[in-house]
Amino acid sequence: LTSSPKRSGLYVIHIAAEMAPVAKVGGLGDVITGLSKALQRRGHLVEIVLPKYDCMEYSRIKDLRLLDVVLESYFDGRLFKNKIWVGTVEGLPVYFIEPHHPDKFFWRAQYYGEHDDFKRFSYFSRAALELLLRAGKRPDIIHCHDWQTAFIAPLYWDLYYPKGLNSARICFTCHNFEYQGTAPASDLASCGLDVDQLNRQDRLQDNSSHERVNPVKGAVVFSNVVTTVSPTYAQEVRRAEGGHGLHSTLNFHSKKFFGILNGIDTDVWNPTTDSFIKVQYNANDLQGKAVNKDAIRRHLGLSSNVKKPLVGCITRLVPQKGIHLIRYAIYRTLELGGQFILLGSSPVPHIQREFEEIANHFQSHDQIRLVLAYDESLSHWIYAGSDMLIIPSIFEPCGLTQMIAMRYGSIPIVRKTGGLNDSVFDIDDETIPTELQNGYTFLTADEQGLNNALERAFSHYLNNPASWQQLVQKVMNVDFSWETSAAQYEELYSKSVARARAVAAGR
Ligand code: ADP
Repeated sequence: LTSSPKRSGLYVIHIAAEMAPVAKVGGLGDVITGLSKALQRRGHLVEIVLPKYDCMEYSRIKDLRLLDVVLESYFDGRLFKNKIWVGTVEGLPVYFIEPHHPDKFFWRAQYYGEHDDFKRFSYFSRAALELLLRAGKRPDIIHCHDWQTAFIAPLYWDLYYPKGLNSARICFTCHNFEYQGTAPASDLASCGLDVDQLNRQDRLQDNSSHERVNPVKGAVVFSNVVTTVSPTYAQEVRRAEGGHGLHSTLNFHSKKFFGILNGIDTDVWNPTTDSFIKVQYNANDLQGKAVNKDAIRRHLGLSSNVKKPLVGCITRLVPQKGIHLIRYAIYRTLELGGQFILLGSSPVPHIQREFEEIANHFQSHDQIRLVLAYDESLSHWIYAGSDMLIIPSIFEPCGLTQMIAMRYGSIPIVRKTGGLNDSVFDIDDETIPTELQNGYTFLTADEQGLNNALERAFSHYLNNPASWQQLVQKVMNVDFSWETSAAQYEELYSKSVARARAVAAGR
């Protein structure tokens, strides 16, 4: 196994279920890559451990090779062999674990949504720590993410610290508290955790069922640092209405719980270099944006060469995203004389069917197009071509699409919740300093709220084009890079490491 060189910065290992662009489902994948790259630029040694999925984008991994070792890891009372691969993704060293388990955990042609996800990811969490132990790694920080790798926190302290993997502090980031991965308590035993010890109210026991364990709760309890992805969301989840059952746990552990707004990867999302779009452009030369708008309209069969605002929406179609408001926005945009492009797909069959019906209804319409797919390259093109991007989320831990939209000069229209509240500031709100104003927001999650913001945006676009252009230029220059957020993570990591050292020195 590759060794870990000595250096002055921190040594951080992320263990996660996603990493863009090789294995991305949503924002988590973007965060792993964006944060890691920013930490690396700041002089830290960063490595990532991922499952070796069959459905990854293998073409985006450089120098992928099989290590000449067999890693044995425990599960369900016996040892299983794992192959270990290493490769480089976006300049970052990544380990891929390929389990040789008869259930073929990561050979399912999809990342999540399998009946045995709890098993698959508790297996992976254990194997990842086994890898670090066997490789003799001495990280300062092990950073795990979401319920899929939340098992790391109790596994580390209960099993691996005593075995000698004892250099690290554990940081856990929850990217969305809706997904907690709860399961019958007995399932926890498979990865070697002690069910009797852990199925307790102050440990992993789910707050609404004594018979179930909750990995996210466990990571909150057992990690040294717990973060979520925006300051507003960190407040929201500490209240009963927003905490998805974990508000009391988060309040109890509030001293170690922080909200840090995500950044975006400004290399990937860069209209001056983006090779997915028709013409590259920048804030001082918006001609290219107009070319992209016309090209995407022609590409999707919408009428072009008309002065109509183009509203985009790029999203997973799940209840969190405000399904009824997205549907309303499509019809209302048409009434207001705009054009609408939706790029989205749904893991929920009835939602997918509902949007298929709307897509069919507008199949050959010249103002509305729904593309019900996951399409990376089309997403770039829509950000570049649209004038506005609509995000009417019911809740939104951080949200990346509003930041990406602004980078491409598309004005966000968002519901004031979570990370949207920390990154989009209403143009008509006089209590907000002018220099911060960058979009349109609404508070109540109903049609009236959305309509108010949409109408104000349309009126601005149609009646005051010069001012609209200034706004476009302004939002394109907002700094949404990872630098600020990475500095905040660095501070949390450093303080946690320093605390541990102080305790050790005082012993
Ligand atoms: P979430 O993680 O809840 O899905 P975020 O706003 O944090 O939402 O991140 C969404 C990311 O996924 C963005 O990079 C967005 O461009 C991308 N995305 C969402 N839906 C699609 C789609 N249908 N096709 C391509 N990219 C998509």
